[in-house]
Amino acid sequence: MSLSCPRDRSALKPQTYEAKIEIDACPTCRGVWLDKGELEAIQEAREHDYSKTLAELPDSVARSINKVAQAASGPVGCPKCGAEMAVREYAYCSQIVIDACPEGCGIWLDAGELQALEKFFERSQAEAGDVIPLRWRLWATLAGVFKKSAPASK
Ligand SMILES: [Zn+2]
Ligand SMILES: [Zn+2]
Repeated sequence: MSLSCPRDRSALKPQTYEAKIEIDACPTCRGVWLDKGELEAIQEAREHDYSKTLAELPDSVARSINKVAQAASGPVGCPKCGAEMAVREYAYCSQIVIDACPEGCGIWLDAGELQALEKFFERSQAEAGDVIPLRWRLWATLAGVFKKSAPASK
């Protein structure tokens, strides 16, 4: 089944990410759709090589990338079920705002947000070290992201 971009309705093109993860990317706005579970797979992949890029991107860069993306965005519909997606900050204090389907289909990332998330994964992994298993933190995060929210009324 082919999905369309929630922002501009372009047909999303399946792309291979990190050799084994398939994501759906928009050729027009460069946003990406991640089915539930794909973000987890990406985070897992980053777990193995976070250190080499960790120092490359200062916090402020990730923040400004995200700010630009959010400025151009309003509420969007889930490409799978059509439900209006909830805008959420990904994880506590990540400063990365994503659109998540309230039905749990997956999440939409505007251009730059996937990269910002990768940096966030890498940084939080490096900071937390072995204190908290990464999977636990991810689970808690996803539980928050996909938690059903009250339907927007308007
Ligand atoms: Zn698009
Ligand atoms: Zn959905």
